[in-house]
Amino acid sequence: MTTNAASQSALAHLAFCQQHESEMLALLRKMVEIESPSDDKAAVDRMGAFLAEEFERLGGLVTFYPQEAAGNHLKAEFAGSASGGASDRADAKPVLLLGHFDTVWPMGTLAKMPFQIKDGRAFGPGVYDMKAGIAMMIFALRALKEASAAHRPVTILLDTDEEVGSTTGRPIVEATAKDCEAVLVLEPSQGPQGHLKTSRKGVGDITIRVRGRASHSGVDFEKGRSAIVELARQLLEVVKFTDLARGITVNPGVIQGGTRSNVVAAEAWAEIDLRIARAADAVELEKKFAALKPFDPDCVIELSGGINRPPMERTEGTVRLFGMAREVAATIGWRLEESSTGGGSDGNFTSALGVPTLDGLGALGEGAHAANESVVIGELPQRTALLTALIQSV
Ligand SMILES: [Zn+2]
Repeated sequence: MTTNAASQSALAHLAFCQQHESEMLALLRKMVEIESPSDDKAAVDRMGAFLAEEFERLGGLVTFYPQEAAGNHLKAEFAGSASGGASDRADAKPVLLLGHFDTVWPMGTLAKMPFQIKDGRAFGPGVYDMKAGIAMMIFALRALKEASAAHRPVTILLDTDEEVGSTTGRPIVEATAKDCEAVLVLEPSQGPQGHLKTSRKGVGDITIRVRGRASHSGVDFEKGRSAIVELARQLLEVVKFTDLARGITVNPGVIQGGTRSNVVAAEAWAEIDLRIARAADAVELEKKFAALKPFDPDCVIELSGGINRPPMERTEGTVRLFGMAREVAATIGWRLEESSTGGGSDGNFTSALGVPTLDGLGALGEGAHAANESVVIGELPQRTALLTALIQSV
């Protein structure tokens, strides 16, 4: 289907989603009330089982990717539809709806931060990041079915360790995405206007560990080699790698070392967050770290880590997807904008593979990872209608 035709059906999708707003909210409530912190496998797997049932009810073929420590990742595949004479679409490459169902909130958070509705918003742990996005996927599939719309096959992939770096989710996300036509990421939208995200910075984490030599600061001061002083000098070097004009930032976010004030510190370390806007900058930045030499030759520097999420760059494919989204949004009287963000998502991986990726298609709200986490209920129908029409357009 062309974007034009999809735009016309956007109004029908909007009506469907508006009629089902309270049902969507009830589903969202159920999901929020199944707590799913990344580090609690049993809890995350309960959420996975719940979702599998929802997807199967919609006719999806569900596959779990069993994990030892993390929750089992989940894929659901839905057949394409050739109705409306567009027979080519049913067998075409699928469109991937991507997200995660782990949250940053530890078990028991719900008791202090229950699901509640206030001033047109729904509150609760993980409601915005990103259980609302999953509810939107489910209702977009229902809206497609309701409209008997022609569309490609749809694959939903939800991983369970996104909030802790997607260590086990990444290979599955990449293997699934590489066979897809496009990736629509249902992470929260950006800012109070709910912009879509067309670029994200790449993310890295490097630990610098310095080993010096301990001594009594009064008796044997000269024999000591302070790891703290050495680390401090190294940090003053690495912060020079920040280049705001190129979108490169280096942030020593955690520092620790030493034992007592009257001991020359034998050990100190710092954890440093790295952000890059362009993939090409990763190698150079990592090289700069690798080239660090101790100021004091009696100290030893050890580095670990590196860039672990490549940037999601604003590629031609992403711009094309955003253009479609914008056109669809306009037909329901909504002027859609795009933004870039310093935060990473699984969209970084799919975009780096060269698969057109559009992110931030999830809910409008605020407070991701914060106590005021909430979504604007009244925005859910139009955002779901947009997603539905976009699935048709791709
Ligand atoms: Zn998220």
